[in-house]
Amino acid sequence: MHNIDMDVVDMTLDVMKYAINRITQTSPELGKPKKEEELRKLVGETITDEGIGGEKAFRLFRDVLVKATVPIDHPRHLAFVPAAPTRAAIMFDLITSASSIHGAYWMEGAGGIFCENEAMRWLVSLTGLPEGAFGVFTSGGTAANLSAMVTAREHWRASEKHTRDRGLMITSVGAHSSIKAMAKVIDVDVYLVDSEDRLSGESLKDAIAQLSAEQRSRLFAVVATGGTTNAGIIDDLDGIAEVCRQEGLWFHVDAAYGGGALAADSVRHLFYGIERANSITIDPHKWLFSPYDCGAVIYKNPELARKAHSQEGSYLDIFKDEGAQGFNPADYQIQLTRRVRGLPLWFSLALHGTKKYKEAVERGITLARMAGEMISSYPQLELVREPSLSCVLFRRKGWTPDDYTHWTYKNHRDGVALVTPTKWKTGDLYETVARFCFINPDTTEEDIKIILDTMV
Ligand SMILES: *Cc1c(COP(=O)(O)O)cnc(C)c1O
Repeated sequence: MHNIDMDVVDMTLDVMKYAINRITQTSPELGKPKKEEELRKLVGETITDEGIGGEKAFRLFRDVLVKATVPIDHPRHLAFVPAAPTRAAIMFDLITSASSIHGAYWMEGAGGIFCENEAMRWLVSLTGLPEGAFGVFTSGGTAANLSAMVTAREHWRASEKHTRDRGLMITSVGAHSSIKAMAKVIDVDVYLVDSEDRLSGESLKDAIAQLSAEQRSRLFAVVATGGTTNAGIIDDLDGIAEVCRQEGLWFHVDAAYGGGALAADSVRHLFYGIERANSITIDPHKWLFSPYDCGAVIYKNPELARKAHSQEGSYLDIFKDEGAQGFNPADYQIQLTRRVRGLPLWFSLALHGTKKYKEAVERGITLARMAGEMISSYPQLELVREPSLSCVLFRRKGWTPDDYTHWTYKNHRDGVALVTPTKWKTGDLYETVARFCFINPDTTEEDIKIILDTMV
């Protein structure tokens, strides 16, 4: 299995050929899921005592299984938060695997971690956080949010007054589901400000005033969103930062989706106040064109994260020896053994330069603005709200939720597009509406028109 023979050579050529074909396809076939039984019937048994051979396994993947996946980089995949990794980043993802680097500790991963940190330094510079701020790449926004929340909670509990207290965080309805899910993981309560619109410092103050004295004593953090996943709304970060300062609360900004837009001059001012955060989440695998998976958590004071996350173990002591001293990614987030998943981003950034990133992110914002104008020109369509970042919410007048569902399925079935409806909350009312989220710079005006034309 570990020998080098003709089969390995053949397999390598097949893999490289596939990889080159796939990354040069600008409009891959829009695959769709199939039932497990159906897939089973098509591929048969794949794990056997003797193995089915590389040729067959590869053929099954290429001809059947990959077609039961949705290529997230398709230019008319505008659902959820799509992705569009650069070709350089994808190729370097192969190299990241081939190089077998353990990314937990500097002692083993120094050269790889050096590259990650170069990319991280650029990310940190986008936030405007003060000198000393730094971060680490995680498996995604969920892990980044969790790592930040653990750091905040541990810091709060370091004070004797709260050692045994159950924490409470405030966030808004617009926050991503992972905030609530990770609050469960760390067993803290969440107080939700009941509006999907921009959370202001004022409404945060009001929310705090609503708390009982007991709740107030357990409140340790506020999570604001730098680009809500549903609508691209950026909370009033400066206002919230000010309240957090006055109240002595940890200020986390979840910019998993919107963080890429920190690079875009046209919208950077909307993030004013992010430089006052204690921690920030940014997902390079969303709007910074990295392949899955690559998230990032950044701390104003990384030392607090190290106190919360550093793992002790006698078998790990050797790593702390002199000569192995350096940045240890394992100390700043929840994972120990880790892929140097920031490496593809580093290579692509180094190759292309940061200006190209700016332009590619601006393109998503331009597409959203263009889509907004086009929507307004169709009599049966209207915007629900002005486009924000690269998100556009709009309605087809007279459509029921079922109409949106049929429309989504039909477009997907026909291989036209994947565009899913969402819900928008006004007051107590949830309305089903259509939504675009633009990431892929290769999406064109024509692509948008093709989709809008299906809403007759
Ligand atoms: C996508 C998203 C997350 C979750 O990130 P994953 O990488 O999917 O774990 C968290 N917060 C926001 C605002 C997001 O858009």
